[in-house]
Amino acid sequence: MSVILRAAAASNLGLARETNEDAVHVGERLVAVADGVGGLPAGELASDIAVRSLAALDTAAPGGGGPLGALRDAVAAASARIRETVEANPAVEGMSTTLTAMLVADDELAIVHIGDSRGYLWRSGKLTLLTRDDTYVQGLVDQGVISLEQARVHPHRSLVTQVLQGKEASPAYTLQKPHDGDRYLLCSDGLTDAVPDEVIARTLRDESDRHECAERLVQLALDAGGPDNVTVVVADVVVADVTVPT
Ligand code: CA
Repeated sequence: MSVILRAAAASNLGLARETNEDAVHVGERLVAVADGVGGLPAGELASDIAVRSLAALDTAAPGGGGPLGALRDAVAAASARIRETVEANPAVEGMSTTLTAMLVADDELAIVHIGDSRGYLWRSGKLTLLTRDDTYVQGLVDQGVISLEQARVHPHRSLVTQVLQGKEASPAYTLQKPHDGDRYLLCSDGLTDAVPDEVIARTLRDESDRHECAERLVQLALDAGGPDNVTVVVADVVVADVTVPT
């Protein structure tokens, strides 16, 4: 059995930004969203390095470590590349990026996550958040200090507590067993800050065409007055029986 992704992406500047610091990759094995962290220099460069460092996984044969091992190696390489870029050009010191990516190999799907770009699974009529935001407000929610609803409008909701910046970091890694017909969503916070989960769920259900679905989600963020860069990947799982050549 072999799993591939059929994925589509859409991205927009948003209503209050002059540059798009989000970066995105869609392929049959790898999908990724990275959000260069605003307010720091060269966020655009950091997100681009992160996504390009992972892109080779799309065509590389899975190694002995499976998709999780391959992702770990690629993320370490991305972090090293960010560090080398800063060392070569101190003007970009402090550049950083979120990263949420999914890699399929054989019948497994591995996820890496750091920052506040999210990964969701739409399966059997139910939307499940697969990632935990590395944010100050998520910490408050975890401690029971504020509710999820309060977190959505908290003045410090965009404060991220972990990013890729070429230094010590602890991305979260998880492994999933994808099912035929699953639909995965990756997105930058430009979507989730502007559009409630129930609207996202309805759109994933109603827009069967993945390209239309990605465009529609971005449009919903803009319609809601979304100020931030918004980037969306909609990835449909296709499980194929493959005959291994002898
Ligand atoms: Ca953002």
